[in-house]
Amino acid sequence: MIPIKTQEEIEKMRHAGAVAAAVLGAVCNHVVAGISTAELDRFAKEVMDYHGAKSTTFGFRSGKRVFPGYGCWSVNDEIVHGLPSEKRILREGDIISIDLTVSVDGFVGDNTRTVAIGEITPEIQHLIDVTQKALQAGINAAREGNTVGHISAAIQRLADENRFGVVRELVGHGIGREMHEDPQVPNYGVAGQGPILKSGMTLAIEPMFTLGKAKISTDPDGWTIRTADGSWAAHWEHTILITDNLPEILTLLKK
Ligand code: MG
Repeated sequence: MIPIKTQEEIEKMRHAGAVAAAVLGAVCNHVVAGISTAELDRFAKEVMDYHGAKSTTFGFRSGKRVFPGYGCWSVNDEIVHGLPSEKRILREGDIISIDLTVSVDGFVGDNTRTVAIGEITPEIQHLIDVTQKALQAGINAAREGNTVGHISAAIQRLADENRFGVVRELVGHGIGREMHEDPQVPNYGVAGQGPILKSGMTLAIEPMFTLGKAKISTDPDGWTIRTADGSWAAHWEHTILITDNLPEILTLLKK
């Protein structure tokens, strides 16, 4: 069952999305060479507190494991779910995917950006730019009457055109009262396949592309997922609302 949000729920999703965007914007502005991911995590918690928001990832359970971060901090070849660490100091030339998910008043907003620390190679910049474009292409395809496959195909096309890997084991998702609701939103697929999109659905769309092969590997910590071949990865995400017209990006950063 894919939940259709009521007008009241949509208002709460708008608020959660706006807070998620504000927190991500503030944290990205805080990124600088020499800072640790633990320090960024503490800063994210402060900004969440300021907005009256809770981290949805902190304390998140997977089997016996409990996630220890207020956000996910995935550096270079790490794709998602990187843990905060005092030892992980960001250096000039690194990239970091910052995935922040907040709960406000019973609803969840989820968004991610990949940012560079200082100068990076044109090749890595291209990976970041194309992944961001793929997110926008996916959003553009998120129209009432289309299917989830339209979103997936629009995203995959950008990866294929640029010969980037598309991570298959990790997918976008419905979002609302829970961080993960139906449906799954893969970053590969065929237009016309999958569930039909209807006005009032809220989705987190999140392409993850790699410079090399798309195969993943999970660290012994049980959380950090990185590329198996060591190639670098980029990840962008917005929470959106399907409407009877253009999709509305709920995690758009307001100026
Ligand atoms: Mg997500």
